[in-house]
Amino acid sequence: MASTSASGTMAVKYGTMKTVISGLTVVLPNGDIINTGGRTKKTSAGYNLTNLFIGSEGTLGIITEVHLRLSPIPESIMSAVCHFPSLEDAVMTAQQVIQYGVPIARIEMLNADQMGISINYSKLKDIEAVPTLFFEFHGSESSNKENINIVEELSKENNGSSFKWAKDLEDRNKLWQARWDVYYSVKALNDNGRVYSTDVCVPISKITECVKFAEEKAKEFGVRAPMVGHMGDGNFHVVLPYDPTKKEMYKQLRAFNGTLIRKALELEGTITGEHGVGLHKKEYLLEQHPDSIPVMKSIKKTLDPNNIMNPGKIFDLN
Ligand SMILES: Cc1cc2nc3c(=O)[nH]c(=O)nc-3n(C[C@H](O)[C@H](O)[C@H](O)COP(=O)(O)OP(=O)(O)OC[C@H]3O[C@@H](n4cnc5c(N)ncnc54)[C@H](O)[C@@H]3O)c2cc1C
Repeated sequence: MASTSASGTMAVKYGTMKTVISGLTVVLPNGDIINTGGRTKKTSAGYNLTNLFIGSEGTLGIITEVHLRLSPIPESIMSAVCHFPSLEDAVMTAQQVIQYGVPIARIEMLNADQMGISINYSKLKDIEAVPTLFFEFHGSESSNKENINIVEELSKENNGSSFKWAKDLEDRNKLWQARWDVYYSVKALNDNGRVYSTDVCVPISKITECVKFAEEKAKEFGVRAPMVGHMGDGNFHVVLPYDPTKKEMYKQLRAFNGTLIRKALELEGTITGEHGVGLHKKEYLLEQHPDSIPVMKSIKKTLDPNNIMNPGKIFDLN
């Protein structure tokens, strides 16, 4: 997770790996071992090497220890589900929750197709196959109630259903089941099926436009497009099922993905919010960071002159 700068669904409240890691122990390509951080909340001592290694996808060294900032378990955790007549209504609600600064721990979105797939796969009851937001609030009981009222109000203004609530752990787990099973539920659609998962992230003010674009383009490209989003972060995935024996189908997915990535860049977003660049997104990294790529290359060459750490990942050296 540190290597890809990954994040969980609670990143909206607690941050991503970039914010929760205070230091790393790293073995460098020449065999040296370094410690990049410390235990203090603040430091102005030198370059931020911790965040240089986070997200470097194993190209600069091997991470052997991760020093994490811990957060207390909140007094009260409350989860709710809200259905919407359209995806746009759902995403707009999430956008407004963040823009109004309502403290929230998670806002996850599933589109209608993904809800249908998850309901079948996880045998969920009392839940509809329409665009849906999953909310979770962490805090004291009174502060949660206050924030819930605000979010419910915003949802209603965007045509949302009344909230379905879960306060105890068992109910909460059930409620989140549809969310956790997303990948496996899509994989199970076809015998020996595979899943191609996109990952773009845009500024919160652009998230509604980007999700709408993805939905329209999926239709145009003729691809099935179950969607799941960490809406509070402006980050979403289109979870595309495909048959690995059908080469044309795969090409179509890649073309759709390219179009979506370029739209994210146009909206001042990023080509990946949490999955990383790897091999498949190298060309897009050049588009996102044309001016920074030479600096990244010179760091790589300095730390790994023999190019032994994940050569060819993120960018090509030559
Ligand atoms: C079903 C599914 C759901 C997912 N959901 C999320 C999600 O909610 N949030 C999210 O952020 N991501 C998600 N992802 C993507 C996921 O974050 C990445 O796949 C994950 O970070 C990879 O972790 P891993 O341990 O499997 O690493 P690997 O896939 O083994 O490695 C990832 C990269 O890190 C490098 N690496 C591995 N170990 C080290 C090390 N010790 N030091 C240096 N480099 C190293 C590898 O070389 C590689 O480049 C999901 C993926 C799947 C398949």
